[in-house]
Amino acid sequence: MKPANDVESRRQRDQFREELKTFVLDLLTCPFCGAIPEIMPWHGGGPRKTAVSCENEYCPGHPSTVAETPEEAVERWNTRAP
Ligand SMILES: [Zn+2]
Repeated sequence: MKPANDVESRRQRDQFREELKTFVLDLLTCPFCGAIPEIMPWHGGGPRKTAVSCENEYCPGHPSTVAETPEEAVERWNTRAP
């Protein structure tokens, strides 16, 4: 473990989160419950991805989508069938 790298990766992660906030405005509301979905970094191993998902605990569908880039994640969220 190298502390300097940890700090750097955390900084990049925070920066990425801030970048993602600008994409929220482009997202359609959840087709199941009408809530505004969350957009967040997805760390499912491998290269960094972006996830969009409905975080409303009462949502009947809990849809989510993951893509390589924020643009693609927004596109997929907005165009996929409910
Ligand atoms: Zn929902």
